[in-house]
Amino acid sequence: MLNVLLLGPQGAGKGTQGKLVAAEHGIPHVATGDMLRAAIADGSELGRQVRPLYDAGRLVPDDLMIELIRDRLAREDTAEGFVLDGFPRTPAQAAALDELLDEIGRPLTVVLEFQLPEEVAIERLRRRAEDEGRADDTPEAIRTRLRLYHEETEPLIEHYRARGNLVGVRADRPVAEVFGDIQQALEQAAVR
Ligand code: ADP
Repeated sequence: MLNVLLLGPQGAGKGTQGKLVAAEHGIPHVATGDMLRAAIADGSELGRQVRPLYDAGRLVPDDLMIELIRDRLAREDTAEGFVLDGFPRTPAQAAALDELLDEIGRPLTVVLEFQLPEEVAIERLRRRAEDEGRADDTPEAIRTRLRLYHEETEPLIEHYRARGNLVGVRADRPVAEVFGDIQQALEQAAVR
């Protein structure tokens, strides 16, 4: 079982590395942003509910997100592990995740903290805005997302450090180098 959690700011490369880790280990990449974008694209009830928040770069309410993750981790394809990306994002979500993983007997193998200078993250987001045209990559939504990251999500680093399975990853390097470091961290975590 390989249960990986990715933490770090927007633009750190969590999505890119999350997909690589998932493919390498044959486990799903559970990315809440992707799940919400799919719901919005479908025009489902959930999509209609979250769209205005998403577009503004604001956070979707905790109870909605917790339910979404609870349902997702109940699916069979996560039995051998998962790469969780984009959740938890608030202290309440972290507490709910601790409780859920306890309940289903799936402790986190490792928490990877993606580290990179803020100006690099901002530059990457600016470039992605040009390439992909994501609805929440407007300058104002980017500012909101980074502010909420610092206020709500960054404190979770200490939460997981205190639990002893946090590993820092220097994310300001080429994709293959970052992935190499992650693979090493996963091997070490697995033998511990
Ligand atoms: P990024 O990390 O670049 O902001 P994501 O794709 O992870 O992008 O998330 C995009 C948006 O989806 C967030 O700005 C927020 O509106 C919503 N979202 C994703 N995950 C969560 C979560 N765990 N809690 C609340 N909102 C979330």
